[in-house]
Amino acid sequence: MRIVALAGGIGGARFLRGLREAIGPEDEITVIGNTGDDIHLFGLKVCPDLDTVMYTLGGGIHEEQGWGRTDETWSIKAEMKEYGVGPEWFGLGDRDFATHLVRSQMLTAGYTLSQVTEALCVRWRPGVRLLPMSDDRVETHVRITDEQGTRAVHFQEYWVKLHAAVDAEAIVPVGADTAKPAPGVLEALAEADVILFPPSNPVVSIGTVLAVPGIREAVAAASAPVVGLSPIIGGAPVRGMADKVLAAVGVEATAEAVALHYGSTLIDGWLVDTVDEAAVAAVEAGGIACRAVPLLMTDVAATAEMARAALALAEQVRR
Ligand code: GDP
Ligand code: CA
Repeated sequence: MRIVALAGGIGGARFLRGLREAIGPEDEITVIGNTGDDIHLFGLKVCPDLDTVMYTLGGGIHEEQGWGRTDETWSIKAEMKEYGVGPEWFGLGDRDFATHLVRSQMLTAGYTLSQVTEALCVRWRPGVRLLPMSDDRVETHVRITDEQGTRAVHFQEYWVKLHAAVDAEAIVPVGADTAKPAPGVLEALAEADVILFPPSNPVVSIGTVLAVPGIREAVAAASAPVVGLSPIIGGAPVRGMADKVLAAVGVEATAEAVALHYGSTLIDGWLVDTVDEAAVAAVEAGGIACRAVPLLMTDVAATAEMARAALALAEQVRR
């Protein structure tokens, strides 16, 4: 079985760890990772979502934090601060810095982001084929209005520095309109037996991947069933501030609204948490098969159970 999953950072990565447990030895997972969160800092290219997937599946993640390296130290950050060089709000630890140095060095030497990601994965052995959604530069920006007026900020500034405390008025994946899917992305979607949307952020993770011309169309046209899992449980994101970016695109933060936002042209099946059992009928009325199962990724075993439920639903809705 060839499984293709779109993924953001922590929600995608944790789900993939369960999925990897749930499949057989012959099955293969290809991950199409969001690169709209990428940012250039200190002259380095940082790819937060690709790294979260790579570190989580490779056993190097800071488990409680959900991003960055385990047993991290912060000497470089402290030294930069002494020079008065920011930004201070973005956490880059010493071990993490090494990843960004390798990546940036290879990009400067002319390798593509796909090639660099593959090279980094030689060390981390994530057990999946990790593809960036595109080798072209895409950066999500958020329009906000605060005491400094109306302006666009990088998504990382909105999320990490401002903690999404001001309303997002618009979300634009800058560069996406002219970006090309990375090599292998469209082929993987066309050849997939199952396509999964993990419980990643529907707007700034999955939505950004789908914004690369050709990817949304390839998902919609795929012969494989497409099944998603809700990142919203009981009317709120399990973690983070997805409600703020959903509001920016006019979508309520409920499991059913997110399903209908993707719509039946894109997804065939949708899993909601058992507390959202009442949403099942509304999702099914939208032409999407829906089941209520526990969706909290409390540990790998519970997450593997979610992945099995997603694969079982995919079997039932096979086009
Ligand atoms: P990010 O790039 O690090 O923000 O990660 P993703 O976009 O991949 O995933 C973020 C989403 O994961 C958030 O909207 C959370 O609601 C969701 N999430 C986190 N933990 C869980 C969980 O245990 N269960 C479910 N269903 N969703 C979760
Ligand atoms: Ca992200």
